[in-house]
Amino acid sequence: MISYSDLARKAVLTKPVYYPGKPIEMVALECGLDPDTILKLASNENPLGSSPLGLKAAGEALRGVSLYPENSAYFLRERLAEVRGVNPDQLVIGHGSSEIIHLLCSAFVEPGIDVVMGEHAFIAYKLAVLLQEGNCLEAPLVDFRHDLDAMRAAITPQTRLVFLPSPNNPTGTDNSESEIVEFARSLPDHVIFCLDEAYAEYLDDPPDLRPLIEEGLKIICTRTFSKIYGLAGLRIGYGYCHADLVDLLNRVRPAFNVNSVALAAALGALEDEAFVEMSKATNAAGLTLLSKGFAELGLEYVSSAGNFILVRFENSDKVYSYLHDRGIIVRPLKGYGLPNHLRITVGTENQNRSLLNALAEFFGK
Ligand SMILES: *Cc1c(COP(=O)(O)O)cnc(C)c1O
Repeated sequence: MISYSDLARKAVLTKPVYYPGKPIEMVALECGLDPDTILKLASNENPLGSSPLGLKAAGEALRGVSLYPENSAYFLRERLAEVRGVNPDQLVIGHGSSEIIHLLCSAFVEPGIDVVMGEHAFIAYKLAVLLQEGNCLEAPLVDFRHDLDAMRAAITPQTRLVFLPSPNNPTGTDNSESEIVEFARSLPDHVIFCLDEAYAEYLDDPPDLRPLIEEGLKIICTRTFSKIYGLAGLRIGYGYCHADLVDLLNRVRPAFNVNSVALAAALGALEDEAFVEMSKATNAAGLTLLSKGFAELGLEYVSSAGNFILVRFENSDKVYSYLHDRGIIVRPLKGYGLPNHLRITVGTENQNRSLLNALAEFFGK
């Protein structure tokens, strides 16, 4: 008998599988723990929860869910355009910013096309490229940081896309605005540069590529409501770029890709400056506390500009299981080629202290 796999496209079978952070409900079930006592520091979510203004708008939008969403995201694009200083026709809205990555790959990648990225970059790029049967050209990082010269050198005549996350997940490292601008200017005209700004709101002064987009350089920047706005479960993000690129991405975008509750929540969250500020401050304090704690435990960690920290362990499997059995979920990174590291999301002060205490116990300190 012919199996389903026999009938599938080869890329579907050969593409690596994505393993997300383990959900709280699953760990509760496995360990017989109360879900309310479980600490999830595995997916870079906001430990303060969701933007209250976003939640309020989402609740009101629930009343309208018998109707299809407004497919062009008109109101969100109008408001985002004001907030971000671009034109509404320069915005494309996705089911999370990872959908924008997929849209880029479905529009520009096919067999024979190369896509350049960093070796330990956010893994969604690789998965999206391989699904379209393109080649990933991975430039090594230096000290866990993207090496833009190496990325520039990796570009071929067949390269259509280059992805740079800054800060990068899972390393937490970022590149400066001047480096990124110089890199963008150095790219050949046949390459589209995607700057992934998932953690931009955690930076004091995020790189601004809008003047370069205005000049006509082939650039798309992506942002998300999943991280600092605390709306990961609603799945909404966006890209801003030249209107011609928006038109192409809208051709491959599935109709009604973003639901009406998410659209409303994003509009509400955009106004929530107080929540963003509080989240940023909580994160900065948490980074300091955790970095100090890791150093005191004699652990090697990578200085982070995001809301998570990459930490090296002699035996990361054992540490992972030890924390897991105590209801603390962190992120293993074998899929990233970093088998000796765990990625730990910054929590609230209490959560960070619980994590450090559990680690101290593990090391018998
Ligand atoms: C979390 C993350 C995203 C955002 O994902 P969404 O699909 O918007 O939830 C994008 N890029 C990086 C580097 C991330 O870590």
